[in-house]
Amino acid sequence: MATLDRIARSLLLTEIISGMGLTLRAFFKPKATINYPSERSPLSPRFRGEHALRRYPNGEERCIACKLCEAVCPALAITIEAEPREDGSRRTTRYDLDMTKCIYCGLCEEACPVDAIVEGPNLEFATETREELLYNKEKLLDNGDRWEPVLAARLKADAPFR
Ligand code: SF4
Ligand code: SF4
Repeated sequence: MATLDRIARSLLLTEIISGMGLTLRAFFKPKATINYPSERSPLSPRFRGEHALRRYPNGEERCIACKLCEAVCPALAITIEAEPREDGSRRTTRYDLDMTKCIYCGLCEEACPVDAIVEGPNLEFATETREELLYNKEKLLDNGDRWEPVLAARLKADAPFR
């Protein structure tokens, strides 16, 4: 009986017809995929992408070199050195972030008392060499300058839930 059933299915092409029917039904359904990078899916304000160091509107660096981010980082990805300036304020002289160690946990951002180090929405920072992922202060500040409007909007959107 089973053999007859198998032969009948083969001759009548029932499996091919049911497969084509499934394809035809899916053809008229809304698409589940998007045409990346021309189209993009929405990102949560809490998305943890590429890091940036932010400035105040007057251009002054936010970071006060408290080293909380360095202490909390479970991957030991952050290295900070600091000295007081002539005006007595404390700022970093070195802020290195090894993106190859980072696990994107977001603890550095959570620990920062002045919203200086943040993880932004940028997820397109793949590189061809490992060295390009060893970020220094200049690179992080440059990221902050480039993404500031988005970073500020993102922090504002998330503020009621903190
Ligand atoms: S996201 Fe986590 S692992 Fe990456 S630098 Fe911040 S604290 Fe370290
Ligand atoms: S980024 Fe924030 S937590 Fe890290 S040293 Fe600067 S002020 Fe402190």
